[in-house]
Amino acid sequence: MHGYSREFRRAAVTAAVAAMVVGTVTAGAGPGTVTADPGPVGPGNVTAGTGPVGPGTVHAGAGPVGAGPRPPAWCKPGGTLQTRAMPRHVKIADCDLRGRTVRGVNGITAVVPADGTSLVAHALRTTGGGAELRIDVDGRTGRVSFSTSDERVPQGRPRGARAPANACQDGAYRLEGSRWPRGSTVLWRHYPGQRGLPVNGIIRGVSNMAGARTDCAAGGRFSPSPNVSTRHAGRAAAAPDITRNAGCGTRDRSNTFGWLAMTGAGSNILAATCVWYRGSSTLETDMALQEQGKRWWSGGSCTAGSYSTEAVATHEAGHVLGLGHVGGANHTRLTMAPSVAACDNGLATLGRGDYNGLMALYGAR
Ligand SMILES: [Zn+2]
Repeated sequence: MHGYSREFRRAAVTAAVAAMVVGTVTAGAGPGTVTADPGPVGPGNVTAGTGPVGPGTVHAGAGPVGAGPRPPAWCKPGGTLQTRAMPRHVKIADCDLRGRTVRGVNGITAVVPADGTSLVAHALRTTGGGAELRIDVDGRTGRVSFSTSDERVPQGRPRGARAPANACQDGAYRLEGSRWPRGSTVLWRHYPGQRGLPVNGIIRGVSNMAGARTDCAAGGRFSPSPNVSTRHAGRAAAAPDITRNAGCGTRDRSNTFGWLAMTGAGSNILAATCVWYRGSSTLETDMALQEQGKRWWSGGSCTAGSYSTEAVATHEAGHVLGLGHVGGANHTRLTMAPSVAACDNGLATLGRGDYNGLMALYGAR
């Protein structure tokens, strides 16, 4: 389950970055309301000296003067680039990937950020568990690195020897490596999509995660509360920055969660969440639930084959706050397990490990 090298941790969090993020406090909104980060240029911005290279443009010989390196064969000028054809670390001077769409070996796609940020794309699938693609853009070394992770959940969960632990006793969690500032309020807006599906399940799900809702403690919440909160700020003007393939697009500096017809995604994709970060600071997150070809359950009795909006949104909100998947058949009762069954609302309440992860990230309020 530790599929990632923790390479992104190399990027130092400078005081300047922290100040930029904390600086987005809205007047009267309490200690740090985060809408999304304010500007495109930060200390982590990539300035590889390759000149004004636009998205989708490959400049042969764009490297240092006199060196004139030719781009490698895999560095094709158009379309989607496959990470399986690339080295694990790509020097921007060799192939400027910024603004290009890449596809990881697990099929997850993302646009390589051109603003110096890094990203991680999460997909939740009905079968095959969860999948992640991380793109680490390191402005200091001028390198872009890729890593993928797939958390497979055995079909027909094995019974007996590896029965899943009780969620209230299972303390397992995994952190992704970036988080919002402690004490901040993450402002987000909903995107209603095309079909008029209810958004209240999404709103409840986001609130469940940040509020540490659980069946394990008296009062329905773990205590103390983690020192972060979320606030629904109404309807978004634009769709989440998630592509039709359920990959990550180009961020727009607002946190948008909602319904999206991800028409190019595999039929097993339920939801996708993208997290853009610099160093260990999360800057923006977007979330989309698949409104095309999936049946959703948002209250009342569950129609067979429908998925709980609230449960899936709670899980995705875990990614928003910085939690990763916890794989393995014995952890399937946790909200951050990368699996959800039809008509199962269990993920909507946190297990011990989900809460422990939030406390590791944010401490007590
Ligand atoms: Zn997930």
